[in-house]
Amino acid sequence: STFKELGLREDLLNAVNDLGFETPSDVQAQAIPILLEKDTDLVALAQTGTGKTAAFGFPMLQKIDIDSRTTQGLILSPTRELCLQITNEIKLYGKYCKGLNVTAIYGGASISDQARQVKRGSQIIVATPGRMKDMINRNMVDISKIEYAVLDEADEMLNMGFYEDITDILSHTPKEKNTWLFSATMPKEVSRIAKDFMRDPIEITV
Ligand code: AMP
Repeated sequence: STFKELGLREDLLNAVNDLGFETPSDVQAQAIPILLEKDTDLVALAQTGTGKTAAFGFPMLQKIDIDSRTTQGLILSPTRELCLQITNEIKLYGKYCKGLNVTAIYGGASISDQARQVKRGSQIIVATPGRMKDMINRNMVDISKIEYAVLDEADEMLNMGFYEDITDILSHTPKEKNTWLFSATMPKEVSRIAKDFMRDPIEITV
């Protein structure tokens, strides 16, 4: 298939073209049409390096309202490195989405700088769980209008002991949102998150 056949909008296809992506990867070919067409939760069993950032990034960019400054998409990832990597990728995918603001939130950097960035009106926040929780507790972010939540490398986040931070963060988001979970493995803790916080997720395996 082609990215156009998956249903991506023209501005996003132009970004795909600039990036030199010729063919959708397996996880992209499976996830993108589902996420674009359906308001559904998703559990994707996919390793790193399979192109999963684009698999959730493009649908999120296509579905959010760029004209609004409300935070609509939240992506949680286990490490600062991955958080920054995802942020950079999403910015590249959304390079033709005029007015798009993507903010990275992670520990070990100035919290007030990050709060200032969020305040400019970030439609998408990419965060590590600890700093995210900290900023919620300090009223520095508002995730009460989130429509799409991504748990990236869910198994890694749980391995690192982020279960409580994740569930606490999710408790500040609306029930009606869609949650998209990506994980390389499916241990009990990940199934438990899916069972307790997701509604009839469509499951795909890469
Ligand atoms: P990820 O698994 O999301 O970390 O992506 C791994 C790498 O593959 C990143 O550098 C992406 O920019 C790149 N990539 C993602 N999708 C494609 C694609 N369809 N064709 C070529 N490269 C891709």
